[in-house]
Amino acid sequence: MSQRCKIVPERCIACGLCAIYAPEIFDYDEDGIVLFAQEPSARQQFIIEEQQEKVKTAYRKCPTRAIIMEK
Ligand code: SF4
Repeated sequence: MSQRCKIVPERCIACGLCAIYAPEIFDYDEDGIVLFAQEPSARQQFIIEEQQEKVKTAYRKCPTRAIIMEK
């Protein structure tokens, strides 16, 4: 089942961790602020099962909770 992931760029401090854990999902704008790699203007995305563990790790590691995973 796919799971919804949201990002809150206002909370992002450009630490660069999330794209290390899930490089297919997360990328950054020119200031290093998080966006979705495949859909840079989106604030939420459905994550396919194969990517969910990586995205969950990024979610857990994000120091400012700028990544939100819905159950
Ligand atoms: S881990 Fe969190 S704070 Fe760091 S770049 Fe990603 S979204 Fe921003």
